[in-house]
Amino acid sequence: MNEIVVHFPVRMDSGEVEVFTGYRVQHNNTLGPFKGGLRFHPDLSIDEVRALATWMTWKCALAGIPFGGAKGGIQIDPAKYSRAELERVTRRFTFALGDAIGPEYDIPAPDVNTNAQIMAWILDTYWSTMPAHDRQRCMHVVTGKPIESGGCPGREKATAQGLVFCVERWAEDHALDLGKASAIVQGFGNVGSWAARLLAAKGTRIVAVEDAGGAIAAADGIDPEALADHARREGTVKGFPGTRPVTHEEFLSTAADIFVPAAMESQITGETAPLLRVRLVAEGANGPTDPAGDELLRDLGIDVLPDILCNAGGVIVGYFEWLQNKRSESWDLDEVDAKLKKKILAAYRQVEQTSRERGGLDRRTAAYIVALSHLQAVYRERGIFP
Ligand code: NAD
Repeated sequence: MNEIVVHFPVRMDSGEVEVFTGYRVQHNNTLGPFKGGLRFHPDLSIDEVRALATWMTWKCALAGIPFGGAKGGIQIDPAKYSRAELERVTRRFTFALGDAIGPEYDIPAPDVNTNAQIMAWILDTYWSTMPAHDRQRCMHVVTGKPIESGGCPGREKATAQGLVFCVERWAEDHALDLGKASAIVQGFGNVGSWAARLLAAKGTRIVAVEDAGGAIAAADGIDPEALADHARREGTVKGFPGTRPVTHEEFLSTAADIFVPAAMESQITGETAPLLRVRLVAEGANGPTDPAGDELLRDLGIDVLPDILCNAGGVIVGYFEWLQNKRSESWDLDEVDAKLKKKILAAYRQVEQTSRERGGLDRRTAAYIVALSHLQAVYRERGIFP
């Protein structure tokens, strides 16, 4: 529906001024306000943001939450900037977006290289531009905030938690004992590190992990808690004691039951899919599989839990945060987890049912059918103005 491109100047620590480019693509708000993450990445392009925004529309429609789809971000490599510079970049971007975002209109959230701290800066900047009387009713302009600033318990792990609820259900249906299973995880940020921790808590061995800095493997399993400490300290999983470094190809061909891609798009392709030696791909990332890779996964008999289903936990708990802010409520973690499980498994069942009704149709197409049927029904009911 709308594509917003902003160019904004920010003063660096050195005193020099740098001009950044930011995007917000608002794909569809038929089912509710625009909703989607903000990504800070040097390669971010309007095309990528368009794709990510579109998936958000379908994801919210599939999850049955009253949101539309959007996505945005800044072309920036955050590793090259100080914390103070990143704060100024975030605040100036928020200011540049102005009324293009809003608690009942378009609600950003964390994505690659953004986190609860960045959401707190967005809230504070948005607030600062509001009359004092209006501020409290704008708490839900952004989700994924720190708990103290109106965030929701369990939001940090929510995407991975939703993924693990889906994997558990798949494992039940496919006679896989997660207590004896193994997994490989690509990306060790929010989604990947939490997926590894939550799977390890079920007894699943994490046998290989890859991030932007490299890949590691250990047949006996990697302790994700200790690895998270190491990654926080060193900025990468590489060099974690008790593991051996492996190449990208070795990482992908590590035998395991489950592969969790939780990094960037187009990782499973015509070239890389044949390397995989897993039973299930549980898509934590958005768009980790390209069409050629998808076809090969089908030919190879590797099952897929598609992104718009498998990683919907983040936006579902984002919706819970938004609701709590609107109603001045605060739910506890048990309540959040129980509601998340109910919502994501309802979507899972709909996808399974559609797949069965269509003669074993692949889950990705089935998920698109469920999501787009919902949108189609609304368009039919409302018609096109004028
Ligand atoms: P993050 O910034 O917390 O972590 C990203 C991780 O990916 C880092 O460990 C980074 O080193 C790694 N990475 C980057 N490029 C890589 C490459 N080329 N090869 C291997 N690893 C690489 O980001 P995140 O929030 O965990 O998001 C990861 C994916 O999950 C993205 O596709 C995002 O859109 C999707 N997602 C995130 C959420 C959320 O709640 N954060 C929700 C739904 C989907």
